[in-house]
Amino acid sequence: MTDLIANRIRDNATKLALPNLHSGLEELVARAEKDSMGYLELIDLILDEEVGVREGRKFRHMLRASRLPHHKTIDEFDFTFQPGLDKRKVRDLATLSFIESKTNVAFLGPPGVGKTHLAVSLAVAAARAGYSILFTTLDDMIGQLTAAQAAGKLARKMLVYTRPSVLVLDEVGYLPLERNAANLMFQLVSKRYENGPILLTSNKSFKDWGEIFSDTALASAILDRVLHHCEPIAITGPSWRMRNRLAAIEPPGATGATTA
Ligand code: ADP
Ligand code: MG
Repeated sequence: MTDLIANRIRDNATKLALPNLHSGLEELVARAEKDSMGYLELIDLILDEEVGVREGRKFRHMLRASRLPHHKTIDEFDFTFQPGLDKRKVRDLATLSFIESKTNVAFLGPPGVGKTHLAVSLAVAAARAGYSILFTTLDDMIGQLTAAQAAGKLARKMLVYTRPSVLVLDEVGYLPLERNAANLMFQLVSKRYENGPILLTSNKSFKDWGEIFSDTALASAILDRVLHHCEPIAITGPSWRMRNRLAAIEPPGATGATTA
């Protein structure tokens, strides 16, 4: 390859915003020569690498914008520690068809069983596939919406929570909500309903949701919309946090607890 042609390719790659071709031209050509690639294969390689760079950048951008508390994956979840949990159901969810079918997913169970971990891991998978994500706790979202309402900017703030392809709503039910807050939750759920799914976690089973939203009519209206398309996943096993704590205070083998 003459310098003249190489320089022209690099210039054009810059004009077309193809940074990988610009910086990796020699390496791409060397790979093509080494593997005796045909013309089509080389063009395919060039475009594929470029898309890979772009998608990687988009993924990193999605993760940064998502406000996820961490980026744990399903592979980091030890299913042997929760034998009651349907692993296949969770793995099916990771194929992300729930996003297109606008099906909510509710992880229900006591503290420390991995509800947030699993919700986050589905969100990470969704971000990798190019979907926009927002993570919030219910209390934080209600705080933001209440403040916006007081400032006459509710509609705009609502968009923050209704626009993302997937909303992760963590810790539903830790604190009860007064009537106006429950009403804001109802508005949010109505706007997302059949628009984009919510991945929620709660320490309360659905039958106890009446206690969270002070008004029973509002509670059932919220539940009605959440449950219409919803995959509930109850996790009833032991707390992972307690497992680590027990292991720290007792000598190995003394707990008799499950070791995974
Ligand atoms: P929850 O939201 O149910 O209270 P978390 O998802 O926050 O629980 O889990 C608490 C901690 O334990 C997190 O660091 C999480 O990654 C870890 N954890 C929970 N369950 C598992 C598991 N089965 N395998 C690996 N890590 C787990
Ligand atoms: Mg949690």
